[in-house]
Amino acid sequence: MPFAVDFNEKVVEVIKLNILVCGGAGYIGSHTVKKLLENNYDVTVLDNLEKGHEHSVKDVSLFNVNLLNKDNIDKIFINTKIDAVMHFAANSIVGESMERPEVYYNNNVVGTLNLLEIMQKHTVSKLIFSSTAAVYGAPKEIPITENHPKEPTNCYGATKLAVESMLNWFSHAYGLNYVSLRYFNAAGASKQGDIGEDHEPETHLIPLVLRTALGLRPEIKIFGTDYSTPDGTCVRDYIHVDDLADAHVLSLEYLLKGGHSTVFNLGNGKGFSVLEVINTAQRVVGKPIQRVYAERRSGDPAVLVASSDKIKKELGWTPKYTDLYKIIETAWNWHNKHPNGFGD
Ligand code: UDP
Repeated sequence: MPFAVDFNEKVVEVIKLNILVCGGAGYIGSHTVKKLLENNYDVTVLDNLEKGHEHSVKDVSLFNVNLLNKDNIDKIFINTKIDAVMHFAANSIVGESMERPEVYYNNNVVGTLNLLEIMQKHTVSKLIFSSTAAVYGAPKEIPITENHPKEPTNCYGATKLAVESMLNWFSHAYGLNYVSLRYFNAAGASKQGDIGEDHEPETHLIPLVLRTALGLRPEIKIFGTDYSTPDGTCVRDYIHVDDLADAHVLSLEYLLKGGHSTVFNLGNGKGFSVLEVINTAQRVVGKPIQRVYAERRSGDPAVLVASSDKIKKELGWTPKYTDLYKIIETAWNWHNKHPNGFGD
């Protein structure tokens, strides 16, 4: 909440805090921008618009800036009062990260280093960072807690873990206060259906299933049917994007109240198989969705389910969407209304 200052018990002036959201025109970023505005924060968005969409953010200043350009980041901080930063900007396609690690180290690690240096220069000390379940690698136990060993099996996860380590050392050296949020499988779209998931290329299960239902693809491929799971297909923990956005606002409030640097998992704690996702999507859209069985996708563990007990206990976060049907329903509302995404 912005601070309300009661000067003489008659005049109440509300000082709005301004949050810089890096990658704010992307999928999770734009839903969080919306949530910040609803919670009366001012928002400044930095996005290179490579993957982000200009039309996904409204009522904010949007700077088309790449984090690899330190001078341009500096200009934003010189010209705008920034109270805290949320950092979503990153490349996040696992397969691509294996083929082009230099792109991932540059954009995800060097880009973040530039941001941290500029924050330090302007004495901005609060940061919410988008991390990922991919920092854990193959699960040794389910559900996965924050203490699970961190042994990423792909370059994307390795770059996020490298940033987490960097945040820790900046925290020791300069008093950076950060919350690192390790997302499991982000899904769904805003309740109003005005913003949603629009990746190019799209690689994620739920949008691909819904694009199949819309006739934009002939079929959905099920990557592997011989996993040691009840129906043989992979199990994942799907967490609604609005629940992720809520967690960001709570984490920000935690830091503003003087909370120490920490790390939280974000999942809804329930696993759903690929087949369950497709069958639930069929019920949501009310028609059959063509599927074919395909080879396993390399690097996919059988089951990934989060324990989010830590953030529930420490920040009082609870996911509002625990029902897969409801999560997919919001995604369908968006895809059905916007078959071409943001159309840009
Ligand atoms: N998946 C699938 N077909 C697809 C895309 C994904 O069977 O076309 C599976 C994938 O193997 C994984 C699950 O769906 O088990 C979720 O994949 P997604 O790419 O959405 O997220 P990830 O778990 O890789 O972050």
